[in-house]
Amino acid sequence: MPGRPCKACGAPLLFVKTEKGKTQVIDETTREKRIVVIDGVAHVMDTYLSHYATCPRAAEFRRNRGKQKE
Ligand SMILES: [Zn+2]
Repeated sequence: MPGRPCKACGAPLLFVKTEKGKTQVIDETTREKRIVVIDGVAHVMDTYLSHYATCPRAAEFRRNRGKQKE
């Protein structure tokens, strides 16, 4: 998975595609093994939080969304 630090806070991020083809920005530091139950079968998986939820500067991030300039 391609990774690079957040431009706002420097946290290590992973950029992965969702099943709908959108890019999901996830915070690598939030990785945690959890049990995901799919159709009654338990799967142990790595789970993450979206970096939009964990970034201390998310407000600023959102404000810049849509603009292409740095
Ligand atoms: Zn951040």
